[in-house]
Amino acid sequence: MEEKRIGVYVCWCGNNIALMVDVEAVSEEMKKLPNVIIAKNYKYMCSDPGQDMIIKDIKEHNLNRVVVAACSPRMHELTFRKALENAGLNPYMFQMANIREQVSWVHTNKEEATKKAKSLISGAINRVNFHESLEKRSVDINPATLIIGGGISGISAAIELADADKKVFLIEKTDKLGGYAANIDLTFPYMYSAGQIIEPLISKVQNHKHISVFIESEVKEIFGYIGNFNANIISKDSFETELKFGNILVATGLKPFDPSGIENYGYSKLPGVITSLEFEKMLINGSIRTKDGDIPKNVAIIHCVGSRNKDYHEYCSRTCCMTALKYANQVRSALPDSNIFQIYADMRAFGKGCEEFYTQSSRKDIMFLMYDQKNDLPVIKKAKAGDNCEMLIEMNERLSGEDIEVPADLVILMVGMEGREDAKQISHTVGVSLCGNEFYIEKHPKLDPVATTTDGVYVVGSCQAPKDIPDSVSQARAATARILATIAKGSVEVEVTTAFINEKICCGCQFCIKVCPYTAISFDEENNVSVVNEVLCKGCGTCGSACPSGAITSKHFTDKQILSQIEGLLAKSLELQEV
Ligand code: SF4
Ligand code: SF4
Ligand code: SF4
Repeated sequence: MEEKRIGVYVCWCGNNIALMVDVEAVSEEMKKLPNVIIAKNYKYMCSDPGQDMIIKDIKEHNLNRVVVAACSPRMHELTFRKALENAGLNPYMFQMANIREQVSWVHTNKEEATKKAKSLISGAINRVNFHESLEKRSVDINPATLIIGGGISGISAAIELADADKKVFLIEKTDKLGGYAANIDLTFPYMYSAGQIIEPLISKVQNHKHISVFIESEVKEIFGYIGNFNANIISKDSFETELKFGNILVATGLKPFDPSGIENYGYSKLPGVITSLEFEKMLINGSIRTKDGDIPKNVAIIHCVGSRNKDYHEYCSRTCCMTALKYANQVRSALPDSNIFQIYADMRAFGKGCEEFYTQSSRKDIMFLMYDQKNDLPVIKKAKAGDNCEMLIEMNERLSGEDIEVPADLVILMVGMEGREDAKQISHTVGVSLCGNEFYIEKHPKLDPVATTTDGVYVVGSCQAPKDIPDSVSQARAATARILATIAKGSVEVEVTTAFINEKICCGCQFCIKVCPYTAISFDEENNVSVVNEVLCKGCGTCGSACPSGAITSKHFTDKQILSQIEGLLAKSLELQEV
């Protein structure tokens, strides 16, 4: 039997750990545990000298297992696995104990914190005894990409990929490309024509030799994994197309909030109340008119309709404030004598050039009136004879504290943005998750904002969260850079800590298939057993806990490994209590 030779390294993290944990005492205690050959403490284990120390010790002391007690594995597990690889050791012969987030940051008693650190590290040492070498696997990448959604994000990504001579399949559900941007007149804050931005892009996509566009089409099913996906596309005329590609980019956009349910605003009852998208149509047609075809004297623009309110959506739709200012500017240009009221909750002008746009707009004889959109929405009522306007908006103006009536002939509701009704179905088809607001969830909100937990699937633009054109295009281009980098490599490494089914024990109940969130398990009818596709499996462990026969083992998370960790932790904890 192989001799176990374990090296243990306790990190100070500067004073982050060392102030609350007696790192010297911890490393001395760990030296006493079975199979521990060497135990050290060091100021910054993740630094180059820290990693070099591990590599040197592995070679000099012939270590075959390593434990690092430091921060969360999310932070540096990969760093230390890499160090093991550099020393010629299998990277899975490593275990990390978290004594920063789980100890020094959450305790105030140094003696107790030190005991807890000793227990956690003892558990890690006990566990690493049962680690086994796992071999990395890689799959080849098909250089084609499937893009779902033909709005500004999908179009930008398609051009980027196709210009790099890579094949693109672009699927659009409606009968035309362009998405939301194709339905607006001017863009804020520089008042460029949206048409002049989007039309050349659409034309380029339609004529690009590397882009196949599928209009009025939907993705029915997707099979496979990063590098090797297959999809069935259903078009309006119902013919069946099968496509093969290596990556998927989801750019399905969002939809406007329907304000009919907000009684205060009378939308669909008062004809002079329209949505922002309906007003865009007026602008595109070049004529701002009331329902009777008259020129409106009083134009009111109400912000945050359906946004930032617990009864509708609590999030900010991000683009409405600036769009509302754009409308005010357009009304002022078209109707110089009109009265314009911006009825806002908070003015959010965070994008490049937007604060300046706000300042310029506020000099154009526009009245800004603040309301409390959380507790006290304005009420729009039909005006009486003699009021000299079509409607009256009753509101409490927050800055003055006064109850006022605002005259209006045309009211524009700045409706918020929400996830599309087919978001759930698409999320299931491509294997990505939705947040509570029906937007797709990225892999990491700060460090990996366009990838998802499904390798080879990216989410960009407004289907991830409401965003404006520059942010949508930035995300699309970020995702294409990731895809091109993957294609350039030719192959990609896949997860090795996957589930394994013992066919001799499997009873064929298929519970595992129902619970697997990554559709990684299929059923072998002939042998009456379930089978894991190791490329799709993410090693989440769900199937293992659901299997009634105990037929499933999660590699690197075997029962033996987990129980030995618990035993080691409890044994040290009891020992320290007795002391
Ligand atoms: Fe801090 Fe983690 Fe680096 Fe140690 S390994 S210095 S705990 S960040
Ligand atoms: Fe087999 Fe277990 Fe899956 Fe049932 S849950 S099919 S026993 S592996
Ligand atoms: Fe599916 Fe998770 Fe089981 Fe893998 S470990 S087969 S991803 S449930």
